[in-house]
Formats: sequence, structure tokens, C-alpha cells
Amino acid sequence: MVKNKNIVLFTLFLAAFLLELAFEFNTYLMIILLIAAFGYVWYTSEAQMSNQTKRENLELMNQVKVNSSDVHLKNKQLLTIVSSIPFPLLLLDEKGKIVIHNVHAAQLRSCEDKIELDAMHNDFHPKLQEIIKDAYILEKRSEQIIQIDEVEYQTYIVPITSHGRFSGCLILLQDITKALSGEKMQKRFIADASHELKTPISVIKGMIEILNRDDFDDAETADDFHKQIDYEVNRLDRIVKDLIEISKLSIEKPILKRIRIDFHDLIIMTCKPLESLAENKNLQLVYDLQGDSNLFCDSQKMIQVINNLVINAIKYSDQGQILIKTYQDDDSYYFQVIDQGCGFEIDEEKKIFDRFYRVNESRSRLKGGSGLGLAIVKSIIDAHDGTIEVQSKRFVGSTFTVRLNRL
Ligand code: ADP
Repeated sequence: MVKNKNIVLFTLFLAAFLLELAFEFNTYLMIILLIAAFGYVWYTSEAQMSNQTKRENLELMNQVKVNSSDVHLKNKQLLTIVSSIPFPLLLLDEKGKIVIHNVHAAQLRSCEDKIELDAMHNDFHPKLQEIIKDAYILEKRSEQIIQIDEVEYQTYIVPITSHGRFSGCLILLQDITKALSGEKMQKRFIADASHELKTPISVIKGMIEILNRDDFDDAETADDFHKQIDYEVNRLDRIVKDLIEISKLSIEKPILKRIRIDFHDLIIMTCKPLESLAENKNLQLVYDLQGDSNLFCDSQKMIQVINNLVINAIKYSDQGQILIKTYQDDDSYYFQVIDQGCGFEIDEEKKIFDRFYRVNESRSRLKGGSGLGLAIVKSIIDAHDGTIEVQSKRFVGSTFTVRLNRL
């Protein structure tokens, strides 16, 4: 284009020179020719410039279009990520103003009736307000645990910097209530189990120490001690076996070997050997077995249920009879063990199925139990999708009722 313009200009000046030569260098003609030449140069350069500007503008507009659709997409992606995060998330700008939050964060407000979230976070729980203030005042990464309405949250503050300057921060809250309660339960279980094991071990150790003394020569006491050691060893064995059993049952889905069985036969088979144990205490086992006893369950585990409930009834009764009763309704089969023993207060009825819980600590321990019998029974019944309940009255007796699905 520049090359063409030069050729045109050269031709114009050559034509002007020839004309001037022809008209013997007429001044007016020269002025007119000069104006025409400069006019042409101005016009062509203006036209070229405006074409270039137009092209540049078009390119710029296209670029803006691409960038804005890119920003739109990125914005959408960010909002999708934020809303799909299953725990509260807040994004603050450099002045501490909330610019992005998800629905879980909005639920932490103390006044949920307000539709709009207060960007200056005044409607949040005071503990969360403190975290937010710390986040933009301290401008550094931090973590801490807070409790809001019975829920324990682990909070994470992550500062965001742009060109080396603080430009806001991200606040994340993770619900750790379950993890903490699991951890607490595990710690309690270990402490309780250690305590249970420690008691018989200390008794055995103490007696062996006395028996080993050089000056010990009391044959009668030695005989008593040996019997006592034998009893404590058996108790230790029972606790260890129950501990193994309860830890197997505590896993999320215990393995059941279900088969079709006649529950009445299972009751008779399990209770017959216990009759002499009852007779030794002047107790009588009585059966009232009704209903369709054809059930689909783990027979070995059910033997343990029957055993634990009937042995408890014998252990905690000093008189009367122990009734073993079954019946059915449309969907369920019921198995009851009813005794006339010591019973317990109504407020103990829920706690009684907790591991190591004992109504009367010393009395129950004297009976030689592990404190895990009913927890094992409940775990087995839960694994069969059944239920177990107890009604008891102090000095009157207890009724344990197991409900199983009829399949
Ligand atoms: P333990 O090995 O101590 O018997 P269990 O888990 O079987 O442990 O029972 C927990 C507690 O419940 C017992 O220590 C006892 O205090 C109470 N208990 C269980 N069964 C009966 C019952 N039939 N009558 C009265 N109290 C009972």
C-alpha cells in the first residue's frame, strides 16, 4: 500500500512538472496541483488509518467476547464447586466482607429467618464471628476446633495473596463430631477393658505373692487362695472371650451365618444344661413356647443370646421361677426371659446395654460377669435387624424381650 502511494505521488509530481513545463511554470496552476497532491496524501492516509482502527477494534471486541465467556465459565465452575462442598465454606475479601458462601455456611446463622446473608457476618454464631474476624485480622493460615449447637467443627483458615498482598481468605468448617465421639468411645472402651482385666490380675498376683512367701504355711488359706485363683482365671478367660466377641460384633457389618432353624429347639437345647445351675439356687426354668418358630438366623449367635439372658436371670435371682416365653404377631417373633430377681430402677433400662455398665458395680462383679454380656446380646440382635427391650422393677424382677423379623 505504501509502495503504491509513492508511485501515485511520483506520477502526480511528474504530471505537475510536465504541466508546469507546458504552461511555463504558472503559479496558480502550481498551487492547485500542490493542493491536489497533498489532499490525495491526506485522504489516503486517513482512510488507511480508519481501516486499521476498525480492524483493531474488531479484534479487541472479539478478544473481550472470548474473555468474558471464559470468566463466566470460570465463575460457574467456582460456584458449582462451592455449592457442592458438603460442609460450610466462606470466602472473604481483603476487608473481611463475605463475597462467596455456600448453603451450609448460611445455615450457621443465628437468625435464619433473614433471607440475605449479612456480608459483615453479624448474624453468625459468636464463635464463628470470632473465627472470621481472626481470619482477616491475622492474615495467616490457622486451624482450631469450635463447637456450635452440639456440633464440633474443625476450622481451617487459608489466606489468599495476590502480587504478594493479602487479598482475602477462605474459611472451611468440617463437622468432626462423629470422629471425635468415635475416638472418645474407643478411649473409654480401652480404659474400661484395661480396668476389667486389671482387677482379676491384681487379685491373682496378690495371692501368688502371699503363697510364695517363705514363712507361709497355712494349708487352709492356701486351699482358699487356689480356689480363688481358679475363679479369677476363669473370669479373666470370660472377659477375654467377651472382648474378642464384642470387637468382632462392633465392626459395621458383622458376618452372620444365617440358616433356617427351629427357635424352640434352639431354646430347649441351650436351656437344658442350665437347669441344674438354676436348681442349685432353688430356681426353676419354666417354658411357654408358642408361635411359628421357623426363623432364618445365625444359630450360634442366637445360642449366645439365649445363654446370656438366661444365665443373667439365674445370676440375678434368688427365688421363684424363670419363665422362657415365645409368641408371634404378623411380622415378628418374640422371645422373652422373665425373672423374679433383684431387678433395677427404670432409669437404668437404657444404660444396661452399654459395654461394661453394671447396675450394682460390686454385686455384679462378685457374680463373675464381664459386664459385656448384654452389649453382646444387643449387637447380635441389631445385626439381625431385631430389637431388645427390658422392663424391670427393683426387688420384683426383670423382663427382657427380643423381637426378631419373621422371614
Ligand atoms: P454382667 O457380666 O455384669 O452380668 P451384663 O452385660 O450381662 O454384664 O449385664 C449388665 C448388668 O445388668 C449386670 O451387671 C447387672 O447389674 C444387670 N442385669 C443384667 N441382667 C439382669 C437381670 N436379669 N436382673 C437384674 N439385673 C440384671
